[in-house]
Amino acid sequence: MSKPARPPSARLDTLAIHAGHELDAPYGAVMQPIVLASTFAQAAPGEHRGYEYSRSGNPTRAALERALAALEGGRDGFAFSSGLGAATTLLSTLRAGDRVVSSDDVYGGSYRLLKNVFSAFGIESLFVDLTNAASLSAALTPNTTLLWLETPSNPLLKVVDIAALAAEARRRNVPVVVDNTFASPIFQNPLALGATAVLHSTTKYINGHSDVVGGAIVTNDAALADRLRFLQNAMGAVPSPMDSYLVLRGIKTLPLRMRRHAENAEILAGRLEGHARVQRVYYPGLPSHPQHALARQQMSGFGGMLSMDLAGGLVEAKRFLSNLRLFTLAESLGGVESLAEHPALMTHASIPDSVRKALGIGDGLVRLSVGLEHVEDLWSDLQDALNEAFAP
Ligand SMILES: *Cc1c(COP(=O)(O)O)cnc(C)c1O
Repeated sequence: MSKPARPPSARLDTLAIHAGHELDAPYGAVMQPIVLASTFAQAAPGEHRGYEYSRSGNPTRAALERALAALEGGRDGFAFSSGLGAATTLLSTLRAGDRVVSSDDVYGGSYRLLKNVFSAFGIESLFVDLTNAASLSAALTPNTTLLWLETPSNPLLKVVDIAALAAEARRRNVPVVVDNTFASPIFQNPLALGATAVLHSTTKYINGHSDVVGGAIVTNDAALADRLRFLQNAMGAVPSPMDSYLVLRGIKTLPLRMRRHAENAEILAGRLEGHARVQRVYYPGLPSHPQHALARQQMSGFGGMLSMDLAGGLVEAKRFLSNLRLFTLAESLGGVESLAEHPALMTHASIPDSVRKALGIGDGLVRLSVGLEHVEDLWSDLQDALNEAFAP
């Protein structure tokens, strides 16, 4: 009665709708049932039908995990209670004395997790500008056991060469994880470029409706998958069945949403770049982006995130953000609605001031998550707020 988990040759648009789903045996329900049970009856001690306790495994979560694996072209998918829950579980595969080499412009919470949590367990981390792939070699000391990449990065939309970096890391036997949250599986598939694992905050594009906090890891590496399966249960950062269902539902429209996010963001990025009050726009789809050629090659779309340096500083940035009407001033990204935020004061406040400045996250930097509204309404909102921010 169950459908195959992954139609073998299906394209992403089809996988997004069908992957992972099972036809519900008793009723033939077309949508994946939400199985809320925390525990499952056993016929005799130790004899069960695949599920015993919902931390260890749950049918709704399993459907989501199959769908995530299918979208990233991986064998095994794991769902977590948050993106950082996924990262915590992944980093728990390491031991004291290990070193993580990471690209330098990463999500503030990933930086904080490495610097302020895992450091206490003897795991060292080094943040390197990897936009020049040749910089990796010197950072890979013999005790390096993980390369952490985030591309496009948050908030500066830096793009690093996954294939080149993964090839170098693999030559040195270092596994590679790529945080693929910004591109989503629709625009970038790191496993196909040589990564060992892909990480997502499903809170963002994958769920896409700003109503779930969740995370995921997908891998083709059988040994890593075994270890993650063990840790997912042993550490317990699992999503609820209800959240698993919502993310699975979000996935159905992910390809459509991503195309529209990218279409809107490309238009706005181009117009903002020509605006007198905007000093610089960071968007991989702009020919002026330093890694535009690489982005064209490794991504099939440029996504819905862009950042910009306003011509003024903190005062103008704050006035701009307070004057937006359609864009909501809020952290997070990837939902249907447009959001705006100030990285230095909000998402990246956990990064020390000097580090932030060195990275180029200045006081005039504003990050936009471009939603699915009509692009002309979004443009009017941005223009009005820019005018008001710089009004005498
Ligand atoms: C939000 C985010 C995370 C963390 O995910 P949570 O679901 O908030 O725990 C990690 N990486 C990136 C790129 C993110 O945007």
